[in-house]
Amino acid sequence: MPSTIDLSGKAALVTGAASGIGRAIAQDLADHGACVLVADLNEQAGQAFADSLPSGRFQRADVTSRDDCRALVARVEREWGGTDILVNNAGVQHVAPVEEFPEDRWEQLIRILLIAPFLLTKYALPHMYARGWGRIVNIASIHGLVASPYKSAYIAAKHGLLGFTKTVALEAGDKGVTCNAICPSYVRTPLVERQIDDLAKENRLSREQVVEQIMLAPAALKRLLEPSEVAALATFLCSDAASGITGSAQAIDCGWTAR
Ligand code: NAD
Repeated sequence: MPSTIDLSGKAALVTGAASGIGRAIAQDLADHGACVLVADLNEQAGQAFADSLPSGRFQRADVTSRDDCRALVARVEREWGGTDILVNNAGVQHVAPVEEFPEDRWEQLIRILLIAPFLLTKYALPHMYARGWGRIVNIASIHGLVASPYKSAYIAAKHGLLGFTKTVALEAGDKGVTCNAICPSYVRTPLVERQIDDLAKENRLSREQVVEQIMLAPAALKRLLEPSEVAALATFLCSDAASGITGSAQAIDCGWTAR
């Protein structure tokens, strides 16, 4: 059945789009007609991917830098007139008990996962308000809703991101702009592959035991999500059909938070 979602004429900025979930979202938005700026630290993978999109551009950016965030929004404006869709996706993980957590690393996670979405939203909103249309999709996590041990920085940032999402939704409600968060359980991406290694070390388990006993233990559906499943939800949130959804935390979690 042909897709009914038409994002042609919309310009999207997706952070962390060289890999995993961000890449799948950028691809899906492009497949539905959007022009996409692929933003990432990884120049080689990001450029190659952007070149493969019909209306893709790449800009290297470290989202912990205010200047880089400003430059991303300015680039979308130069290319296509302004950011209509902002997907805050760039992320990293660090697994360590609180008493051993490196302080600089804790701060860096907060910068990437929480402060960057604030900066990019701040810079992108004026164009969305002027147009009377905008979509902000924040890639949070089930760890925005519940906690697990050893991920204090990530969990604090993702909980904060849900609060930020709700606040923006309230401020932007009468201006045609929606702001939502997506909360996935484990998705098959390089970030999760690295976590499996870390958890195996931390818990003295094999990789298979980590997936079965730790990652999928609370889930109703005993499988990892695919990035394309998260991307389909993100694209839906950008559609006109989703114009009544804002301030929400959309769980796509194989039943992980059902208990
Ligand atoms: P990934 O490692 O595959 O991709 C993350 C991308 O972000 C990489 O391309 C990386 O280069 C980029 N990045 C990292 N730091 C950056 C920075 N400072 N500036 C610019 N780009 C930077 O990871 P993923 O699994 O696709 O994760 C994407 C998002 O989804 C993250 O916010 C993550 O927290 C969230 N998430 C992932 C899962 C999962 O199971 N994979 C589950 C829930 C939420």
